[in-house]
Amino acid sequence: MQTAANLMPIPGHVDPVPVPRAAPVRDDGLIDLVGLTREQIRAALEQGGLEPKQAKLRAKQLWHWIYHRGATDFATMTDIAKTQHPWLAARFVVARPEVVTAQVSTDGTRKWLLRSTDGHDFEMVFIPDADRGTLCVSSQVGCTLNCRFCFTGTMKLVRNLTPGEIVGQVMLARDSLGEWPSQPEGRMLTNIVMMGMGEPLYNFDAVRDALKIVMDGDGLGLSRRRITLSTSGVVPMIARAGAEIGVNLAVSLHAVTKEVRDEIVPLNRKYGIDELLAACAAYPGANNARRITFEYVMLKGKNDSDADARELVRLINHYKLPAKVNLIPFNPWPGADYECSTPERIRSFSSIVFAAGISAPVRTPRGRDIMAACGQLKSTAEKKSRAELDRLAAGIVG
Ligand code: SAH
Ligand code: SF4
Repeated sequence: MQTAANLMPIPGHVDPVPVPRAAPVRDDGLIDLVGLTREQIRAALEQGGLEPKQAKLRAKQLWHWIYHRGATDFATMTDIAKTQHPWLAARFVVARPEVVTAQVSTDGTRKWLLRSTDGHDFEMVFIPDADRGTLCVSSQVGCTLNCRFCFTGTMKLVRNLTPGEIVGQVMLARDSLGEWPSQPEGRMLTNIVMMGMGEPLYNFDAVRDALKIVMDGDGLGLSRRRITLSTSGVVPMIARAGAEIGVNLAVSLHAVTKEVRDEIVPLNRKYGIDELLAACAAYPGANNARRITFEYVMLKGKNDSDADARELVRLINHYKLPAKVNLIPFNPWPGADYECSTPERIRSFSSIVFAAGISAPVRTPRGRDIMAACGQLKSTAEKKSRAELDRLAAGIVG
């Protein structure tokens, strides 16, 4: 059920302030254990009435069953006394986001439209390759930042996802790939990118807590080297991301002049290119083995000249950045103001960067036919949510 408290209006183009709020309460009143830390599980068990010592042991067991084995039914947790199963089931649940639709692209890319318990829709995408499988995870419903070339940025409704909803995406992907229990070798889901809907650094705590679970050795067990967080440039949070999360960093640079970046990534009016690159240079662990990825969307006649490429090289050298550049052909969406650069232009841009000794591969668009490519995510239920909002405003539903 939606309430005014869990709907957040767009606070403005330049300085969005996401409103923190408690995790949505389930209609059935049960507490979802997914997304809780060991400590939070222990506390929830104690609150339910378990002795402290038992709560600690059970928390450890539950953690293993939930995150290592992928169990969702307490009855299957064989090292927990049978008599305790109904006690657990009466208070707790191990849930997954609801799947509204699942689509498969002609190139094998899969996209899921998911729904939170309070009725908000968000998307996740799985991109299989010969040697890896990458899950593109959302951090918010919509995005407050309104980058001009991004479909997600046009969504009116925004809410931060909870740690459970973020880690729940990874668990759902594991379910559908049949990859339980967690194994170090031979899995299809090998990499995670925080590149779905939303700006992860505007939902810092939840993203951090979720990724800690994903990286936990007795949890989902993915190495931090296989996880990449992409930000449009929330400068004050970059150092914290390095210190508290420590995954690979990708930065959506997209332009090399103030004029163009101000236009296409409005956050640039608050945190400019120089400030952003200085923060990148200070990112811990940034060295040649773990380079920072600079994403650069190729927009025809906007940011794709040879002069732009040379300026990009100059900036990277000036800040002594261990960098690679990811050139992303613009993925179109209905009503977009831009067009994709021509293949020749992209080649020319790429070769200038390459010639300077910086890797600059062109990212092959994946899943365009099902609107699953970079920047094409926008949940179809947005309209419904607006209508619900209007009904709410008119006092028709409570
Ligand atoms: N909000 C974060 C992460 C999500 S977007 C960020 O902006 O970094 C993942 C990447 O896709 C970003 O580099 C984003 O700028 C890019 N992107 C957005 N819209 C796009 C589009 N229509 N075509 C190609 N890339 C796009
Ligand atoms: Fe938000 Fe990233 Fe899209 Fe910009 S590109 S609107 S930050 S999701």
